[in-house]
Formats: sequence, C-alpha cells, structure tokens
Amino acid sequence: MGDRDLIATADLVDFHCHLDLYPDYPAMMQETEKAGIFTLAVTTTPQAWPRNHELAQRTKHVRAALGLHPQLVADRASEISLWERYLPEARYIGEVGLDAGPRFFKSLDAQKRVFQRVLQCCADAGDKILTVHSVRSVKTVLDHLEAFLPADKGKVVLHWFTGTKNEAKRALELGCYFSINAAMFHNERHAPMIQSISLDRVLTETDGPFTQTGDRQSKPSDVAIVVEKLGHLHQLPTEQVSATVLNNLRNLVGSQG
Ligand code: MN
Repeated sequence: MGDRDLIATADLVDFHCHLDLYPDYPAMMQETEKAGIFTLAVTTTPQAWPRNHELAQRTKHVRAALGLHPQLVADRASEISLWERYLPEARYIGEVGLDAGPRFFKSLDAQKRVFQRVLQCCADAGDKILTVHSVRSVKTVLDHLEAFLPADKGKVVLHWFTGTKNEAKRALELGCYFSINAAMFHNERHAPMIQSISLDRVLTETDGPFTQTGDRQSKPSDVAIVVEKLGHLHQLPTEQVSATVLNNLRNLVGSQG
C-alpha cells in the first residue's frame, strides 16, 4: 500500500506516466491496475509500442500511448516511419512535442519536422488523443497545433505545461486540456497560471519515474497529492476535484474508452 491514504486511489487519473521505465514494468502495471488508477502509459520510442500496447490491453485502467519523445529525436528521427506504421493501432499518442531546452536545442529543427508529421498524421487519421511536451517551446507547440491539428481532428493534453497565463489562455482557446503534476506546484510562479486553467480542462499526472515523491520515484497513486493541491488552489474539496478530473477524462475519451 502507498504511504498516503488521505483519499482513495480508485478512479484517480494519471494521464502521463512512463510505466515501462520502472525497474519492474509489468509489476508496476499490475499495481496500477489493482489500485484502479486510470493511467496513460506513455512511450518514448515507437519500438516500445507493441509490448506496452499488449500489456495495457489486458487491463481495465491502463492504456498505452504511441510516442516519439522530442528529446530522442536527435538520434531517432528516422523512427517516425515506425511510428506511422503503428499509428492505426493507437488511439493515444505520446510522448510527442518539442523541447528547446539547452540539451536538445540542436535538434529543434528535426523535432519540428517530426512533430509536424505527427500532427498531420493524427489529423488525417482523426480521433487521436495526444499528450504533448512543450519545454521552452510553448509558443511553437501552440503554433504547430493551430496549423496542423484542427480541434475537430484530435484532442491535445499539454503535459507539464510551464507557459505563461496568456499562453494557457491561448491553449484553452485551441481546445487543449492540461495534465498537472505535483512538481508544477514547487515553483510558486506557476500557481496563478494553474489557477487560471478552467477546472473542466484539467487532468492529473505524475510523469513518473521522472518525478520524486519524497525520496522515491513517483508512481501513479501519487496523483492523490496533485488532487489535494488543486483542491487547495481552487478551495474545493478533494472529492470534488477528483470527480471533476474523472469526468474530464470521460469527456476527453468519449464513448470509445
Ligand atoms: Mn514524460
């Protein structure tokens, strides 16, 4: 059991977690399933898709996403063809997006080409749901979304968004959702931006194992902490926040699940 049980974990939502990067991936998927946390298992390369998809299909609460992470594009841009090959099998897409941070800036042109291709393929296919990375590149990501993925052709969840309040407003106008994690609250500067996001566009995430909860790697049940923080921020009971997030997930996913 987890070390926090302030609220029940069942029906919580972790919309961005790298389950396949934990030491014992199948065990982590089983733990998540048992806890009843609706979890999107994102991938960083399309090579990880078949196994993630196969394992997730055996669960009620976990779904796999087909990704090509912007931080890997420098070495793996050619994997876009493999990504395209798997696209018809995938409803969820990610992790995809752009990263203009100092370590990845060199590949930004290649990242933009890959991301444009991802969005165009998703628009052609229709009805995909994307989890999108936008480190130091919010404006360019939003420009790409506006240009290549019309709102009626796919849905976008901005993961670990750190843009300005105005950029959040623009993203809301484009129809985007936001998946919020606990680390986003560490920087007080972000609180007004998070608060400005209409609660009916909010999902929760851990981005585990890339985030810490105390002195260990975060895992999906830790989204309970995000729900509490959102409750404090909006001055709402945690139960109301978790019910809203679950309802948002249902609206996002629609009838297909
Ligand atoms: Mn991630």
